[in-house]
Amino acid sequence: MVRVRFAPSPTGALHIGGVRTALYNYLLARQQGGTFILRIEDTDQGRYVPGAEDYIIESLRWVGVIPDEGVGFGGDEGPYRQSDRKEIYQKYAHELVQRGHAYYAFDTPLELENRRQAEEHFTYNHLTRSALINSLTIGEEVSKRRIATGESFVIRLKVMPGRSIHIQDLIRGDVVFESSELDDKVLLKADGMPTYHLANIVDDHLMRITHVIRGEEWLPSTAHHVLLYEGFGWEATMPKFSHLPLIMKPFGNGKLSKRDGAKFGIPVFPLAWKGETAEESFDGFREVGFLPGAVVNFLALLGWHPGGDEDIFSMEELIQLFSIEHIGKGGARFDYEKAKSFNQKYIHAMDDAALATLVRPLVEAKGYQVSDAFLSRAISLMKERVTFLTDFVETGYYLFEPVRVYDEETLQKRWNGDIAAVFAELTEKFATFDLFKAPDLEEAVKAFIQEKGMKPGDILPLLRIALVGTMKGPAVFETAEVLGREETVARLKRMMDNQSVKS
Ligand code: GLU
Repeated sequence: MVRVRFAPSPTGALHIGGVRTALYNYLLARQQGGTFILRIEDTDQGRYVPGAEDYIIESLRWVGVIPDEGVGFGGDEGPYRQSDRKEIYQKYAHELVQRGHAYYAFDTPLELENRRQAEEHFTYNHLTRSALINSLTIGEEVSKRRIATGESFVIRLKVMPGRSIHIQDLIRGDVVFESSELDDKVLLKADGMPTYHLANIVDDHLMRITHVIRGEEWLPSTAHHVLLYEGFGWEATMPKFSHLPLIMKPFGNGKLSKRDGAKFGIPVFPLAWKGETAEESFDGFREVGFLPGAVVNFLALLGWHPGGDEDIFSMEELIQLFSIEHIGKGGARFDYEKAKSFNQKYIHAMDDAALATLVRPLVEAKGYQVSDAFLSRAISLMKERVTFLTDFVETGYYLFEPVRVYDEETLQKRWNGDIAAVFAELTEKFATFDLFKAPDLEEAVKAFIQEKGMKPGDILPLLRIALVGTMKGPAVFETAEVLGREETVARLKRMMDNQSVKS
């Protein structure tokens, strides 16, 4: 039975790479009929940021990567927040000392700091520990007495030198670390809280995790983790590891960082985050106007592809096709243009009513009041032209309020006295056409233009500018139909007024 977990630390907004990690875990769980767990790793109180946990949960809900168990989702293996499990880790840390794979250390932070000052590359390890104050040097009895008097201590992992530690990573194959190069990591801190390493391993064991899928940055820690599994005698149930490739900047070299969002003007977080300063606050994919399905599709392909040419996949298809073996080792470039083109395709493919429920809040936020029927017509008119949901009310504002600016360059080239006269007559016509449907309008207007001895190209661009201000707008007769007779006539008159003021 597959059991996987997403284990973020609530240290701020969840980076989009974290959402990819969650997604891959989720896909594997759904495909294998397994369980996907959300565990909050908040043992580093110094880095805890209020609101981050809610942000993580809301982000997962938004993309539809819903945990089966975890903080905010219930389950039988909880609590799922590490700060609620403090006693569990203490018990296991002491047990590891009993088993001879860890030891108590009493060196004060000041003493260690002095050592670091004196020795540039000082680390607490198999070479230095014999000259430091710990239960290996002062003995177990003395150590216990010192602890009983309330002296502060930490518990460290006792790494034995001279071993090659092999990790069978499902993406990277056999990865080897030399134990002689590893430090004796702190497992339990002086405040009684575990470090990431201890809490992570104890929880993965107790929560019966079968596969650990996480970012590449955790690969070096895995050597220590293997030693912990061995120390506890849990090798037989050690999870299988998969370390995901880095997500690289859209341009240039290096991994995508928080700062790249502002630098490239792109979202790098799923949702908006309100930080303490303006620089620490930003919009996410949601606020920019992405559909969650497009974001999921885009993220799934950051480092994974099932093969073949197809690249549009629904969540259901991803669940069927996903396989760890097809995840690449090399960094995956964050191609924002691709994300945009996915979003465009997803919007295009979505039905008008579903889009309307997403667009309505945007429309209302702008203070526009429209009926459901109108909104649905406006959406169907615009949806082939938008990249973001927000485009419906940004670029497409002219469907909800009068044109703000006219394409003056085109007007200057095409507007003249003859045209003005024809235009005035056409405006009259619009007021009297029997039917106000696009095909009828088109037929009638084209006939009228011909009757006047003109070409469609003389009049239609101007008609379009009168209705939407720009040559880039949607199909002209459809737009007139959506706006309706009254508004169409008003817009034609308004442009004529605008032109006559200039002459
Ligand atoms: N708490 C770690 C993080 O913030 C989890 C790493 C892991 O999945 O083991 O990413």
